[in-house]
Amino acid sequence: MQALNMSRCSCTCRGYQNVNSLLANRTFLVRVQPHASTALLNTAFTSDSKCAIRGFCRTTSKPLGCFKVNQTFFYPKPSLTFSTVSRSKSCWKCGSAIQPTPVFFCPACKVIQAPDEHATFFDIMDCDKSFALDTQKLQRRYLSLQRSLHPDNFSQKPQEEQEYSETQSALVNKAYRTLLKPLSRGLYMLELGGMRLEEGTDIGADPQFLLEIMEINERLDETQIKEDAKNIGLSVQGRLQDLTAKINASFDKGDVQTAKVLITQMKYFSNIEEKVKEKISEMPV
Ligand code: ZN
Repeated sequence: MQALNMSRCSCTCRGYQNVNSLLANRTFLVRVQPHASTALLNTAFTSDSKCAIRGFCRTTSKPLGCFKVNQTFFYPKPSLTFSTVSRSKSCWKCGSAIQPTPVFFCPACKVIQAPDEHATFFDIMDCDKSFALDTQKLQRRYLSLQRSLHPDNFSQKPQEEQEYSETQSALVNKAYRTLLKPLSRGLYMLELGGMRLEEGTDIGADPQFLLEIMEINERLDETQIKEDAKNIGLSVQGRLQDLTAKINASFDKGDVQTAKVLITQMKYFSNIEEKVKEKISEMPV
């Protein structure tokens, strides 16, 4: 078993993972002893094939900071005991082994399974953990999962199966809604990286940016002309597209800090976009 070479950690927990499974699975769970706590870590691959790992301690909810993995691994010192959590599980009905990925139905007896609490929305929707995800593929996956998991299909089945279909289909809905829109997808990716946008703060919003937002808001508030409101909407959409491209590039580079600043800006523009829609709908035809 190998430990990661950690450069910085704001929690007393220590993360580790076997390098091969680390590179194979972008999200993984680790159990850390002697604290017996778990940490969910996510990897973000950078262009030079090194990866940065971010995560948070599941027990203390503290961010674990940024782990730089420079392909240098070392075995833990004998005084530290590490052990991985096995994510393989078995079917609740027939006991057959189930692969450690989100599996909705047992391959042997075809019975619906309980949700995998460690699966990310990307795992559930079978999408690459990328900001530039293929929304058409996401949509197809959503429709196919909803067809097979829909509670109506289970009304004649035992209680457990009915409950699993309800929780699974609610989870799939949530995963789909979160990943569909760039803003919620970006916020979720930050959350996976152990980062959150604090409510009510203007992190990353420089004064010039805030001034620009204020001016757009004022223009929108003052105008009584539908065409003007539409034009504001179009320019905001342009800004959102531009931000989407920049956020994508930042996540690709593993630069989560910049992504966070850009997602903050995206939040402001998305708010204005909503206001524009509201304003237009209230204007006389
Ligand atoms: Zn089974």
